[in-house]
Amino acid sequence: MSILTTHQLSIGYSKNRKTVPVQTSLDLELKAGELVCLIGPNGSGKSTLLRTMGGLQQSIAGLVSIDGQDIASFTHLERAMQIALVLTERVEVENATVYQIVALGRHPHNNWWGSMDEDSDGLVRKALKMVHLEHKIDSPLNELSDGERQRAMIAKALAQDTPIILLDEPTAHLDLPNRVEIMLLLHKLAHETQKSILLSTHELDLALQAADRIWLMSVDQGVVCGVPEDLVFNGSFNRAFQSKAFVFNAANGNFSMNYPMSKSVSVFGDKTRMYWTLRALARAGFSVEQDAGVIIEVTEKDWRMQAESYQSIEDLLAALNLKY
Ligand code: ADP
Ligand code: MG
Repeated sequence: MSILTTHQLSIGYSKNRKTVPVQTSLDLELKAGELVCLIGPNGSGKSTLLRTMGGLQQSIAGLVSIDGQDIASFTHLERAMQIALVLTERVEVENATVYQIVALGRHPHNNWWGSMDEDSDGLVRKALKMVHLEHKIDSPLNELSDGERQRAMIAKALAQDTPIILLDEPTAHLDLPNRVEIMLLLHKLAHETQKSILLSTHELDLALQAADRIWLMSVDQGVVCGVPEDLVFNGSFNRAFQSKAFVFNAANGNFSMNYPMSKSVSVFGDKTRMYWTLRALARAGFSVEQDAGVIIEVTEKDWRMQAESYQSIEDLLAALNLKY
């Protein structure tokens, strides 16, 4: 079931009464229970799209609808019941406690004098539990690590109890273990709570692993949607991040330097060491082919070439360079 859709949506800005579109004619669809990662080069319009979908800025043309209803017709409150938006800007209320910040997520649901009822209190505590932050409930926000602070902001969005959560670069400023943790947490939340979670990220590697679907945005050229592996197979990544200096390597899901390869070798043997051997060979300008004149065997202990044994990649490369 799709709950949020965009119809011929154009996003962008107005300058001196002229509109400057960033992306045009986007037809996108966000489904319940899915984690979607929005990926694209800097300046392609990821933040602009999230802000437009979240109702923080107006579209240039087209519309965003939730369950068939144009969000432009929603009141502020109606929108807050549907969409929780987590932006990267740091909140200013640094001496507020974790509980107080997460409780702000209950704001749209509370009565006009803002008092919390028992249900709201329960939801705040449940949200903190989901992000594993119960033990910090009374800590001031400024005493949290970056990873904990990000989890607190996710808890606030969870407490808001909306079917849709949009996050702009929730893994920025985090170290690798925390990036992985946040991504896996969001994936788990989407599946367990049946919410639609859309996040923008630069973490191609993580997105390929955790996203149920990827929205791949190119500068001025729209968004391609699909299951990560399908986008790998059909070359979409290379098109979105086109560059002479590097290519998307479909074999390992990483970007690799585009080395000029003028010499060829054949390689076979141990799988793990093979991966690193191929990287070193590519860097040194060797392409790997089926029936090259020079054959390298990779074993668990050494590298063998023309009846000689080499104990390190350094020695192997030195020997290869003598040959060519
Ligand atoms: P991303 O998040 O993918 O890096 P953005 O959505 O921030 O990209 O920006 C997309 C484009 O819109 C960029 O060209 C940027 O310069 C422009 N832009 C962003 N914010 C504004 C703004 N407030 N006013 C005018 N142009 C903007
Ligand atoms: Mg951005």
